[in-house]
Amino acid sequence: MHSYEEALAMVLERTAMAKTERIPLQSALSRTLAEAVIAPLDLPSFDNSSVDGYAVRLPIEGPLKLASEIAAGDMVGRSFEMGETLRIFTGAPVPPDADAVVMQEDTTANGDWITIGEIPAAGRNVRFKGEEVKAGEVLLPAGTVVTPPVLAVLASSGASQVEVFRKPKVSIVETGTELVDVGEPLRFGAVYASNGLALKAAAENLGAECRLFRSNDDLSTLRKTLEEALKDVDLVITSGGVSVGKHDLVRSTWNELGVEEMFWRVAIRPGKPVYFGVAPDGPVVFGLPGNPVSTLVTFYLFVRPTVLHMQGRVAGETKKLTLGQDVAGATSVDVFARTQVKDGVAFPVEAQGSHMSTGLAFAHALIRIPSGTESLPAGAEVDAIPIIWN
Ligand code: AMP
Ligand code: MG
Repeated sequence: MHSYEEALAMVLERTAMAKTERIPLQSALSRTLAEAVIAPLDLPSFDNSSVDGYAVRLPIEGPLKLASEIAAGDMVGRSFEMGETLRIFTGAPVPPDADAVVMQEDTTANGDWITIGEIPAAGRNVRFKGEEVKAGEVLLPAGTVVTPPVLAVLASSGASQVEVFRKPKVSIVETGTELVDVGEPLRFGAVYASNGLALKAAAENLGAECRLFRSNDDLSTLRKTLEEALKDVDLVITSGGVSVGKHDLVRSTWNELGVEEMFWRVAIRPGKPVYFGVAPDGPVVFGLPGNPVSTLVTFYLFVRPTVLHMQGRVAGETKKLTLGQDVAGATSVDVFARTQVKDGVAFPVEAQGSHMSTGLAFAHALIRIPSGTESLPAGAEVDAIPIIWN
């Protein structure tokens, strides 16, 4: 059986990056830049005042005569003489004659005569053309995720369109004859379907475009559903039906549909029966086990890095945490225990069962207890994967 690292490396090796597209800036939030953006302008693009105050020429002797004023949006050009000053407002162009700007708070006005409190150094309160970015420099490297401040940077430089990775197209198929939708009565033996909803939300939060399917554990229905799910996608995620039970038909159905199996089962808990394959015309296929925690943990360990990789991104790094209490390991699998983190100390949640969704809902991280470790004591250092769903 493969280790987590071996399995993940196989996945990333077989996953193609998404194609790219040019989109308007207004739709670019959360997308990833597929190419570097070169600054088309100097930033700032002209010398301007950082305060409301008075533009002055140096040296200053005695009160200065107010000659005129300049507001943000005014054209440059107004010149003034030694012994004069111009009232200027934040963002207004600083005229070429001016040596500095004095804050209004550091002056006293008497009619048209302005007395300067402290004589400024040359350049004071001037935001110089190109001081932040020079035209032709790399403004944002490829791989930058468009956050609100990145949008602001792009807009400030006048970018109206950006080249980004396409949204990965994902099909999600939840399997199980026992599943019913929320809002329906729950007959005895039935279970409300939660994996499809949760997987779709998780994938959409990573920028994917998702279609959701449902199949019962009937061979022909499953086959039809998986065939449908494979159409026009980059990735298919199934939940359930991938273990060793008589009704676990996903793996053999993928096989029938010509999907090449790369691995089935990884030495981890939860989620040991996880399946990965590559479909004939390119899409990659994940079979996640159906227990709700196994589904989302294997999504987090395998599918999340894949969806990010498609968009030129990498999943975050692991961290070290100190254990706040003893925790049990297992002989032949790495245990990824759901953990709360308080002040850098890990407290595994009580609900560790792979059917116990609440344990994951309240967890901040997955801590890893290496295979073959009977237990780790409070105070031990552990590797942790922070859980971020968006
Ligand atoms: P399976 O992997 O199909 O054997 O399912 C394992 C457990 O997870 C069973 O108890 C299922 O009822 C449950 N399960 C499977 N799929 C879902 C789902 N979509 N939503 C909620 N529970 C599920
Ligand atoms: Mg099932």
